[in-house]
Amino acid sequence: MAYVITEICIRDGSCVEVCPVACIHTTPEAPQFYIDPDVCIECEQCVIVCPVDAVFLDIELPDQHLKAEEDNAAFFRATKDEVEQLSYHTAMEMIHEAEAYARRMGYRVSVVVVDGSGIPIAMSRMDGATPWSTELALNKAYTATLYDINTDTTRLAHHSLTVMSKGKIMAGAGGLAIMGDFGAATIGGIGVAGAATNDNDLSCARAGVTVLDHHH
Ligand code: SF4
Ligand code: SF4
Repeated sequence: MAYVITEICIRDGSCVEVCPVACIHTTPEAPQFYIDPDVCIECEQCVIVCPVDAVFLDIELPDQHLKAEEDNAAFFRATKDEVEQLSYHTAMEMIHEAEAYARRMGYRVSVVVVDGSGIPIAMSRMDGATPWSTELALNKAYTATLYDINTDTTRLAHHSLTVMSKGKIMAGAGGLAIMGDFGAATIGGIGVAGAATNDNDLSCARAGVTVLDHHH
C-alpha cells in the first residue's frame, strides 16, 4: 500500500516538508506533486498537513480519482528511467563533446564514461593519444564516481588515495562525478587523460558533461 496524491493538489509543497522518507516529488512542468509508491511508508504525515485533502491511501481512492494511483507510479518510472541512469547514447554524446573540445584545443585524449558503479559504458581514444591514457581516463572516471567528487579534489584532500593508484583509485584532475537530478545519488562519471596537464584533462571532462544540461 501507499498514499497517492490526486489532481486536487495545489502544489504548495507542505507534504514534502513532513515526509520522513522524502518520497514526494514533482517537476516544474508537472500539474501536481506525486508520491513514490516504492518508498512511501504510509506514515500519513502528508495527509495531515495537506490543506486541500488531496492525499488518499491507494485502496481508499474515491472513484473519480482512481487514475491517480497509476499517475503517481508513472511519474517515478519516467523520472527514474530518464534521469537516474546514464544511457549509452548520452555517454557517447559526452565523449563526442569532450573530444570536440580537445580537438579545438589541440589535445589528444582518451575519454571514459562510467555508470554509478564505476563500470565503463563507453570509452574512446583519439588518434595520437598515448596508449596508457585510456586506462588513466577509466581510473579517473571510476574514482570520481565512487568518491562523488572531481578527482582534483581528491588530490588536494586525500593524499592517501594516491597510494592505491595501482588499483583504480586515481588522483589528479580529469575526472568528474555526475549527480542525478533526482536525489543526490551519483549516476556515473567521466574521466579524461592524455592532454598536457591534468587541468587540460579536466576542461575536456567539463566540456563532456555540458551534454547533460541540454538534456534537461
Ligand atoms: S504517507 Fe508518509 S511516507 Fe508516504 S508520502 Fe505521506 S508523508 Fe511520505
Ligand atoms: S500538501 Fe497537498 S496540496 Fe500541498 S503539495 Fe502536498 S498534496 Fe499537494
